[in-house]
Order: sequence, then structure tokens, then C-alpha cells
Amino acid sequence: VVKTINFQITLSLFGLFLAGFLVVLIVVDHLLTVNLRDDLMSQMRLQCLLADELIPSGTDSLQPRVEHVARLIEGRVTVVDETGRVLADSHHRQRVREYGNHLNHEEIQQAIRSVDGFGSSIRYSETINADLLYLAYKSPNRRFIRIARHQESLETIVDRVRTVFVVSALAILALSILASHLIARRIMRPLSAIIDSAQEIKSGHYDREIVVRENNEFGELGRMLNAMSTRLKDDIEQLRKLQDIRRDFVANASHELRTPVSSIRGYVETLLDGALHDESVSRRFLERALSNVLRLESIVQDMLDLSRLESRDRGLSLRYVDVSASIRNVMAEWEDSASRKGLRLLYETDLPADFRLLADPYQLEKALVNLIDNGIKYTETGHVRIQTHLTADRLEISVEDTGCGILPEEIPRIFERFYRVDKGRSRQMGGSGLGLSIVRHIMDIHRGSVSVESEVGRGSRFILLFPLHVDFTPSKGISPV
Ligand code: ADP
Repeated sequence: VVKTINFQITLSLFGLFLAGFLVVLIVVDHLLTVNLRDDLMSQMRLQCLLADELIPSGTDSLQPRVEHVARLIEGRVTVVDETGRVLADSHHRQRVREYGNHLNHEEIQQAIRSVDGFGSSIRYSETINADLLYLAYKSPNRRFIRIARHQESLETIVDRVRTVFVVSALAILALSILASHLIARRIMRPLSAIIDSAQEIKSGHYDREIVVRENNEFGELGRMLNAMSTRLKDDIEQLRKLQDIRRDFVANASHELRTPVSSIRGYVETLLDGALHDESVSRRFLERALSNVLRLESIVQDMLDLSRLESRDRGLSLRYVDVSASIRNVMAEWEDSASRKGLRLLYETDLPADFRLLADPYQLEKALVNLIDNGIKYTETGHVRIQTHLTADRLEISVEDTGCGILPEEIPRIFERFYRVDKGRSRQMGGSGLGLSIVRHIMDIHRGSVSVESEVGRGSRFILLFPLHVDFTPSKGISPV
């Protein structure tokens, strides 16, 4: 592409040079010819007047005088009388009498008719066998003085000038081809740079930056391509990350499901191997198998929830929700497990009775369930306290416990899928490691957020933040975690 455009520019520039040159050539040639002819004419006019002065009026010694003048002016001189008879001719002394009447010759006719007494013509002279330029002067001495010159002499001069002109022109044209090529290359250089970089990007080097110093359209193109490749790079990185997450998810999920499945298999095999007949043993085994089935069910439910949440706003059915009522609902369900561990479940609220939050009530309760469940799971003594804090533009719901707390370095990770600080302990308590990542998704689709403050040994506080004036028109984009 570069070469073609380069060639086109070179050709166009060269064409321009050539056209310009031809115009100059024609004009100069024309001016030169006209000027030279004018010069020659006025010179010949003077010579006519001079000849008329130098050549006596009488017929005696006319011929030698005419020849003398002809030598002086380096031309042919003819003297013709009023009737058109040739009196003397510098070049044909002998045959003068054989000449025909000259009155009809064009230069004589012109001289008769013109105001200044001069007449001219260019024609072939049979006496001399050449093109001659004739100038006739009607003298007050009642005769015509005619001077003739080789037409060639004029043409030779013009030709010589033309030759010089054409030769130098060829040199100039050769230079202009070179100049055109250099100019074209200069114009094309930034584009070549862009193409080189684009080539790099094409072969996968997305971080290759296009450097275009020119502050023109090429510069803009370069900047645009840079922006494009940056975006492409970002998108690809994000896609890769997503891919990694998917792969991890499948691996983690399989691992997570395998444990309860192999437990169930163990219990069932033992039962079939004979334990079935001992009723107390078989009952215990069946109960254990059932608890593993329930665990399976809860993991599968969590995975389903997560995948539904991932399809973003699709799963969201918005209502004006009485938040206090939702919180009390969830607390009522978890009252038992709390009191079984000797924990107090508390609620402190600053919400007006008529306060309603635009949210998905099912998802809101699910987030609360996950946080309250965790609070109870990871707390041995003390309380789990739910609090609300309402401001002009947001509602915060916090779930605080007096449990084991979380190490600062673990905090960024606990919202990842399947991530558990203490795997054995969590699993033993029926955790799948998906709870907090579900909470995070729920907060995402409500355009809110979840955060945590925690101190090991003293407890944790999870805060749900709901912005109040949200525009829930669906948005595009992919959220990695
Ligand atoms: P799990 O099902 O294991 O509870 P979650 O996603 O709910 O999974 O939590 C991830 C990890 O975060 C838990 O394994 C636990 O280590 C930690 N965690 C969550 N909530 C609390 C809490 N209230 N106190 C202490 N650690 C917690």
C-alpha cells in the first residue's frame, strides 16, 4: 500500500512539474520568437533607411554602391523604381534586366499601402533558393529599397535557445522526479510507521505503541489506533481473566461436590455390605447420608443462585421493600440456631416505619441470610447485631458479630468464590465458600457494595450499602468475579 501511494504521489507531483514546465516552455518560446522577429525587423528598418541614404539617386554607379551596402549590412539589397523595375540587386548583378516587374510583390504592395512606408513578407526566393525575410521601404527618392535576409538566421537563434532550454529542462525534470519521490516519502513516513506497528499488533503484540510525532491526521490516526489496541488489550485481558475464573469455578465446584458424593457412596456401600440389618447402625448411616444430600443440595442451590445472578439484571424483580420487616423475617428464621449456640441476635434500626427501599426482596433477604448465617457460624460467644443507618442518599445495613474475626490479608479474598479461610472448619459447618460471593453479586446488581471491617479475636462487621436513587435501566458489560 505504502509503495503504491508513494508512487501515486510521486507521479502526480512529477505530472505537475512537467505541466508547469511545458507552459513555461511554450510561453518563453513564443516570447523569444516574437521578440527576436521584432528586433530583427526594427534592425532591418534602420538598415533600409541607411541604405537609402548611402545609395545615390542616379543610376550611375548604383550597382557597386548597392553591393557595398549589402556587405555592410550582411544582407541582400535590391533597388526598385516606382514602376516596379529592378534597378540594382546586390546578389545578381548580371541578370537584373531579366527580372520581372516587382510591383506585385507583397512587401512592395505593403510598403505602398502602409503609413510608415515599410512592408514585409517571408517567402521562398527562387533566385537565392532559400526562405527569405523581405523588408521594403518606399523612399521619398521615388524608389523602393528592399532588404532580404535568410529566414533561417532567425530560426537558428530560436533553435539554439530552444536546445539549451530543453536540455536544462530535462535536467530539471530529472531533479524533480527525485524531489517528488523524496517529498512523497516524507509524506508517507508516518503512515509507514503506523503500518509497521499495526503489523505488530496483528501478530499479537498489543502493547506495541504507535509513535507518530506529526500533529496532523496521521498523528490522530496513530492515537486512535493506540487507544484501540489498548482497549483490545484490556478486553482480551478481561476475557482471559473470565476464562481463568470459569476454569477455576469448574475445578472448585467438582471438588466441592465430590466430598459429599463420596461420603454418601461410602454410607450406602456399607449399608449394602450388611449394615442394613443392624437397625441402629443403618439409621445413623442414613441420617449421615441425608445430611450429605442436604449439603449437596445447598451447594447446588448456591451455584444456581450465583449463575442466575451472573446474568445480571435478568434475575432482579424490583419492589418497594419494607427493609425492617425483611430483617425481622430472617432473624426469626435464625433465632433457633443462635440460641442453640447461646448467642444473642439483636436489631437496632433508625428507619422510619414507612421507609421503603427499591430492591429485589428475595435477593435482599438472601444477602442478609448469608451474612447472619456467617455471623452465627463464626461466633462462639457474644452476639450478632444487625443495624441500619439511613442518610439522604443511602441505606447501610450492617451485620456485626463478636466472633473469630478475619486476618487483614484474607479480607480481599473472602468474597471470591469457594474461598474459605479455614477450609475444614467451614465445610464442617456446611459452608460452600460461595456465600459472600453471592452477597457481592447481589450488591452489584443493586448498584451498591459490600465491605467488611474485622479484627481477629474480636469480631467482624459486614456492611451492605444501598444507594437510594438508582436508575435501574439495564447496563451492559461483564463483571469478572
Ligand atoms: P462459607 O460458606 O465458607 O462461609 P463465605 O463465602 O460465606 O463461605 O465466606 C468465605 C470465608 O470468609 C469463610 O470461609 C470464612 O473463613 C470467612 N468469613 C465469612 N464471614 C465471616 C465472619 N462473620 N467471621 C469470620 N470469618 C468469616
